[in-house]
Amino acid sequence: MNYNVAQLLKEPIGSERDFSIEETITDAEQPANYAAGAVRMVRTHQGIWVQADLTVTVAQDCSRCLADFSRTLELELDEEYFPEVDVRTGHRLFPPDDWEGLYIGADHILDLAEATRQSALATLPLKPLCKPDCVGICDRCGADRNLNDCDCYAAEIDPRWAALRALIVEPQT
Ligand SMILES: [Zn+2]
Ligand SMILES: [Zn+2]
Repeated sequence: MNYNVAQLLKEPIGSERDFSIEETITDAEQPANYAAGAVRMVRTHQGIWVQADLTVTVAQDCSRCLADFSRTLELELDEEYFPEVDVRTGHRLFPPDDWEGLYIGADHILDLAEATRQSALATLPLKPLCKPDCVGICDRCGADRNLNDCDCYAAEIDPRWAALRALIVEPQT
């Protein structure tokens, strides 16, 4: 998700680029493995402002049954990028003290991956589920109870009856 923005950085404030992306992402740090959508980059007085509407596919493991599944997210990126180096002079530039945006490296490459990663992580649930009613794995036999119902708990006595049973079955003395 790298874009060389050297040319855009040389253009006047307000210059724009609109383009669409569709890529497979193989970065292991990335939760997303596919991203597609529309991107707009605008030259600002400090750097480049990026707006993007992306459809991203994310591979996850279900927190209950551990199955791999993929989820599709709609992400909106809205980030300003500050160039670390002046594209004309090659001199180092220093961002404002309160800068909270991202950076364009000395190679003038703007990388959308980090913004995508942050946005995806902010959107994803902490305990992902493959489906809302996933019943998960049996903690006794390890069976995936979405696929097979094991008998581990079927023979259990309902705890509400356990006290009653204690009354019926008197200890042998
Ligand atoms: Zn599951
Ligand atoms: Zn079981």
